[in-house]
Amino acid sequence: MQAQRVLNLNPYKPGEQPTDRTYIKLNANENPYPPPPAVVEALVNKLSASPLTLARYPDPDASALRNAIAAFLNETGGVLCRATAACGADSACEADCACELNSARESCSACEADYARAAPCVPSARDAIPFTVTPDMIFTGNGSDEVLSFVFYSFFDSDRPLIQPEHTYSFYPVYAGYYGIPLVKVPLAPDYSLDTDAMLAAAAEHDASLIFANPNAPTGIGMSRDEVRAFLNAAPKDRVHVVDEAYVDFGGESCIPLLAEFGNLVIVRTFSKSLSFAGMRLGYIVANPDLIRIVTRVKDSFNHFPVDTLALTAGIAACASAAYYADCARKIADERDAFASFLRENGWFVLPSQTNFVLARKDSVSGKRAYEQIKRNGILVRRFDTPGVESFLRITIGTPAQMRALRTAIGDLQ
Ligand SMILES: *Cc1c(COP(=O)(O)O)cnc(C)c1O
Repeated sequence: MQAQRVLNLNPYKPGEQPTDRTYIKLNANENPYPPPPAVVEALVNKLSASPLTLARYPDPDASALRNAIAAFLNETGGVLCRATAACGADSACEADCACELNSARESCSACEADYARAAPCVPSARDAIPFTVTPDMIFTGNGSDEVLSFVFYSFFDSDRPLIQPEHTYSFYPVYAGYYGIPLVKVPLAPDYSLDTDAMLAAAAEHDASLIFANPNAPTGIGMSRDEVRAFLNAAPKDRVHVVDEAYVDFGGESCIPLLAEFGNLVIVRTFSKSLSFAGMRLGYIVANPDLIRIVTRVKDSFNHFPVDTLALTAGIAACASAAYYADCARKIADERDAFASFLRENGWFVLPSQTNFVLARKDSVSGKRAYEQIKRNGILVRRFDTPGVESFLRITIGTPAQMRALRTAIGDLQ
């Protein structure tokens, strides 16, 4: 009954979503904090002011939301929470702390205290975007997964391969299969960072596009903007390259400033992680207007209205709440660093994370056994069967109370 192409699909497998709510869920990189009250109020007000709003089609261009996202990016510089690790070291502090209050910098510990209170985070000159992001540089969709699907359809052909790191977001191979795009998977470097030289060699060989997440998943390792600039400068100029910034708000460096230099750069971002919208579904692209027009043409050939009225309403309210979200991102980043230290003290190998999760393993314990013991204690984490990462657990950072429960659950794993 089904078309042949359906037999050839290889669908994405998300982290378990149990319907009984008894588990502590640290397996899908969801945000443990809810959206701010302003988002809920905006939704309630919208509905009670006129239920008829649900009977009407939404704005197909999502203009008000794209305005709000552009303003949000200009306000934050594209990152809610800048690297905390650097904040602890006097020498790096000046360069990496973004808050106005940090200009005092009497001592680094004082600076960190101020940093936590200073919200919204005002980007330093170094971190500000050197141009104004305008709404014609934004494209919105029903989650960044859908946005990525439009990006694959818009820019990658079946006559040449797409280059990705071997271990990265596992939806990229799914879309490559869906659209019949050949894929070259380049192994990571021994330290689990991207092997940019090998990726560039593959891109040069095929005159091909690159796609990668920065910070990467499931490793959590990020590249600096300067490193991405050098990477893109050495990549084919006549191809579109995609950077997925799903996790950038937890301590990465955004590549949005690079749009001034690269007309062939597409940056994909999501509300799901740092803006607590995994259930609401909202993702977007930041790119030059020419590329936005191409993706819009594809969208209008598939679904004119991917962003519904409620998502528009909630998204606009979220974009006006940068201070609240910066505070959440800061709490998660602090909890991550404390948890990574705990794991290391207990003999785990932990990759350095700039995200809201850590990838970790313990030599004496298989990933499967660790996963099962943690699950018996009522906590879900993520593990992978993919060779190369099968001994690791990917653990989403939750609230302090959730992480205390997890510490207890893994404390005696030998
Ligand atoms: C979670 C995630 C996404 C998808 O986010 P949605 O907006 O929820 O579809 C995209 N890319 C990466 C790397 C992710 O981890």
